[in-house]
Amino acid sequence: MNSTRVFIDGHWASPTSGEILDMVAPSTGEKIGTIARGAAADIDMAVKAARRAFEGPWGQMAAVDRGRLLSRLGQKILEHEDELTALEALDTGKALKLARNDIKAVARYFEFYGGAADKLHGETIPFLNGYQVMILREPRGVTGHIIPWNYPAQMFGRTLGPALAAGNAAVLKPAEEACLSCIRLTELAAEVGFPDGAINLVPGLGEEAGAALSSHPDIDLISFTGSPEVGVLIQKAAAENHVPCVLELGGKSPQIVFADADHGKAIETIVAALVQNTGQTCSAGSRVLIERSIYDQFMTQLSRRFKNLRAGPHQMDLDCGPVISKVQQERVLGFLERARADNIEIAAQGEVHAGASDGGYFVPPTLFRLVPRDHELAREEVFGPVLAAIPFDDEADAIRLANGTDFGLIAGVWTDSGARQMRMAKAIRAGQVYINGYGAGGGIELPFGGFKKSGHGREKGFEALREFTVAKTVVFNHG
Ligand code: NAP
Ligand code: MG
Repeated sequence: MNSTRVFIDGHWASPTSGEILDMVAPSTGEKIGTIARGAAADIDMAVKAARRAFEGPWGQMAAVDRGRLLSRLGQKILEHEDELTALEALDTGKALKLARNDIKAVARYFEFYGGAADKLHGETIPFLNGYQVMILREPRGVTGHIIPWNYPAQMFGRTLGPALAAGNAAVLKPAEEACLSCIRLTELAAEVGFPDGAINLVPGLGEEAGAALSSHPDIDLISFTGSPEVGVLIQKAAAENHVPCVLELGGKSPQIVFADADHGKAIETIVAALVQNTGQTCSAGSRVLIERSIYDQFMTQLSRRFKNLRAGPHQMDLDCGPVISKVQQERVLGFLERARADNIEIAAQGEVHAGASDGGYFVPPTLFRLVPRDHELAREEVFGPVLAAIPFDDEADAIRLANGTDFGLIAGVWTDSGARQMRMAKAIRAGQVYINGYGAGGGIELPFGGFKKSGHGREKGFEALREFTVAKTVVFNHG
């Protein structure tokens, strides 16, 4: 694998700095490889290559042929499913079954957007007598993509799939902490025959390669997924060049349980929506809001289930893996320590498997009861396997609580009342609302994105194609 190289203009090359970065396996803390430390000079070459591709063969390719390339990449990914699964699990520490889902999802992204490439139609508008107006949907041009470490393979498909389907040429800066699958996926993309410069990959540090990409004057759109803090830096840098941004940031997403819900089903989903990827999912359901009349009974059942959760290395395929790094482990343990100091009671705690390596970055899955509404556990993103339970009084109180954080990414509502389902769906300010279910990160077809500090713009589904294109109005005066 070309793991110490950058991919620019259809070629693998050493980064200009000649420097490399070590990659560590979160399950053991041991070094597993190296990647290129790409920086500003590499980003500049990549943007120039993308511009040439956009103005050249890639930009002139018919939509149907672009779609075929994407579909072929989807197929190729499935042919390499086992290899990519093992790589993603090793690099991120996630359980094998989750890594396999992720690889199927990235294949599905290219399949979905491959099929969509020639179905992105414009519009005509009735206008004055003697006129005809049409709206063309054109690609933006060169798109910059900066993604995090939690779902590197899925993010590769989620961000590049619609950008390429719409005809943009892309430069991707993956996360330094986990990007081996992105490197391998780029190799597979090269094999299926994307023209030189259509896809460029520059691994490296956020402050170097990422900052160079977001401040580059010759990009037409930046798509960023990551923390709200870095989202602000990206927007400021892009604003200097009047470059628009699509931002997918964090969340503190509620799972809301009313007394009339099917508790058994709700509990399975609530637990899965939190522990998936060890809580390191932007749309993790990290708050469970429970109607007060059933609070004690529901917490007893939820605690019973939660106590059985196990964390261990990716190969053990348990409920949770390690978190991504020592820094992240300390950050999550910091939340646990402060909660203890604040006398917030633990309702249930899972265990780290006895066979897990001492060098791995493990955290026991933890459920807190009666978390005060203004406590950091109720308001801030932990990005670890930590669930905060909070009682509510009635529907109005549930809505107030659900909307009562700085975030608004997704929400789950558990109730059998149809009217209440509809009222809650309308009242909650989040990009996705699930009724009697929850899909953390799921659903390639489903538009996804935030309100408030969770970001703006929409990814996934056809909405993403709208973000990666721009409308051009053409007015004919035919007399
Ligand atoms: P992060 O630090 O914001 O990193 C995300 C990406 O931005 C990485 O590629 C990072 O590079 C890069 N970056 C860092 N500083 C930068 C800068 N100054 N300029 C340009 N790029 C820069 O986030 P993280 O800590 O890796 O990921 C966790 C956070 O991401 C959580 O808050 C989570 O909620 C959020 N997230 C959101 C979604 C979503 O879809 N809404 C999905 C996943 C994660 P390096 O890491 O290589 O330095
Ligand atoms: Mg980071």
